[in-house]
Amino acid sequence: MVDYTQTTKTISLDKHGIKNAKIHYQLSPNQLHDITIEKKQGVQVSSGALAVNTGEFTGRSPKDRFIVKDEITKDRVWWGNINIPFEPDTFDKLHDKVVNYLSEKEIFVRDCYACADENYKLNIRVINEYPWSNMFANNMFLRPNESELETFSPEWNVINAPGFIADPEEDGTRQHNFAILNFTKKIALIGGTGYTGEIKKGIFSALNFILPVFKNTLPMHCSANIGEDGDTAIFFGLSGTGKTTLSADPNRRLIGDDEHGWTNENTVFNFEGGCYAKVINLSEENEPDIFNAIKSGAILENVILDKNGEVNFEDTSITQNTRVSYPIDHIDNIQVPSIGKNPKNIFFLTADAFGVLPPISKLTPAQAAYHFISGYTAKVAGTEAGVKEPQPSFSACFGAPFMPLHPAKYAEMLSKKMKEAGVNVWLVNTGWTGGPYGIGTRMKLKYTRAMINAVLNGDLGLYDYDHYHIHSVFGVAQPRTCPGVPTSVLSPRATWNDDQAYYKTAFKLSNAFRENFKKFESYASEEIRRGGPQRYAF
Ligand code: ATP
Ligand code: MN
Repeated sequence: MVDYTQTTKTISLDKHGIKNAKIHYQLSPNQLHDITIEKKQGVQVSSGALAVNTGEFTGRSPKDRFIVKDEITKDRVWWGNINIPFEPDTFDKLHDKVVNYLSEKEIFVRDCYACADENYKLNIRVINEYPWSNMFANNMFLRPNESELETFSPEWNVINAPGFIADPEEDGTRQHNFAILNFTKKIALIGGTGYTGEIKKGIFSALNFILPVFKNTLPMHCSANIGEDGDTAIFFGLSGTGKTTLSADPNRRLIGDDEHGWTNENTVFNFEGGCYAKVINLSEENEPDIFNAIKSGAILENVILDKNGEVNFEDTSITQNTRVSYPIDHIDNIQVPSIGKNPKNIFFLTADAFGVLPPISKLTPAQAAYHFISGYTAKVAGTEAGVKEPQPSFSACFGAPFMPLHPAKYAEMLSKKMKEAGVNVWLVNTGWTGGPYGIGTRMKLKYTRAMINAVLNGDLGLYDYDHYHIHSVFGVAQPRTCPGVPTSVLSPRATWNDDQAYYKTAFKLSNAFRENFKKFESYASEEIRRGGPQRYAF
């Protein structure tokens, strides 16, 4: 394992209000790996990676995510059930309780930063109760070198105390766990949950406010990679739609798998220094880059091991959201530093559980704006008894839970940048084909990759009637043929073998789009409104 920055520097946490703690500052990943095992908080798997259980929470808890309503945020944030306000005084009291809780304890502190572009660098200090959470911070944020560390001055602080249990009555929280952003104090305060994703998405949410408000830069919930000719591609999508999977492409250099900024200097940069991949059903054959990244230095979360320490990626007995984090250099083909030029192609990934959207289609600029504001994917009912219908789920900007501003703000910025850069926008259905969830099957990863490659290699032909068919319900342009993909797969209707059932379901989805878009109608131009589905159920 690479031992990143070693330092003899020592720090005090007095100014954070944490007293007499036994501070482990900037330990190497090796040390944190060993300490985690010594403390029986994790085990080493056969590939050398560390495996931990994150405890009660194995995913984010969006209902317990708050933003302190203060001078900076009160008139800027889009308040509601996504951005839930929290009183400054209540925050101060809870913050005091958390730092008291951490005082006298053994704690793990790491200085790191976000944003690969020097001009946007955000210095972060992460203070963790657990060694593996601190190792996660090392994997996911950017790692300062020794000289940067000498003069390091943290701007934002992440205080992460999974063992701290809040009292909702007294602390103003919804329940015992919380993740609260305070833009005046520049603190992300996380307690009662050990799910590591809260740490990275806390800073992501902060940047989603800071960059558009103060730096005129568009933050995006997307992955990004670069081809041999230097052409950048970005992939937007909600959780589970394939951002991490599809950006790991051996023929293209990875910029990042989840969070990027698009500057006015025509560049795209990664916020992070690592990847956080889903590992459910992971196989070396289908996803070799991610599979091989799971080595010493990586942290697996909530997976099940056999007696030889081999991971069983099919086993979802703890959660479907099994994960691995690793520093980006665990992937062979990466862009260093993690910066690319303006994208040439933008992919909107959606896992359509109705199985009615084409596996790939080209969008007009108006359709692109419409689909970005809508942020459609589908949540499958899964194992819940009696629930058979997939639920459409709309999440503006393909990342509403992390976007403090009104979606129109990000959409306007994106539309403008797309126009200036002259990008092509594609809607990719990585979800169901041949019928809805329960009847059809998930689109083969092999086919999705082939479709994306065809776009990137310019193999889909001219944008004309000979090469594209306009979908009668959604109005998007679906290619008639694509190298490496059976032609029948390209037409979702053809895969169903039941036109009536297909159209009935397609109308169900187009109606859901229309219903969802109502709340944005007053913000959208006539042109954008017409970017939605063309036909609705009677
Ligand atoms: P998050 O925002 O939570 O990190 P993500 O968009 O990065 O989510 P991935 O981690 O890439 O999502 O998850 C996609 C999952 O779907 C993977 O487990 C992948 O193996 C699976 N999958 C199955 N079929 C496809 C397909 N056709 N395209 C993409 N992914 C697919
Ligand atoms: Mn991902």
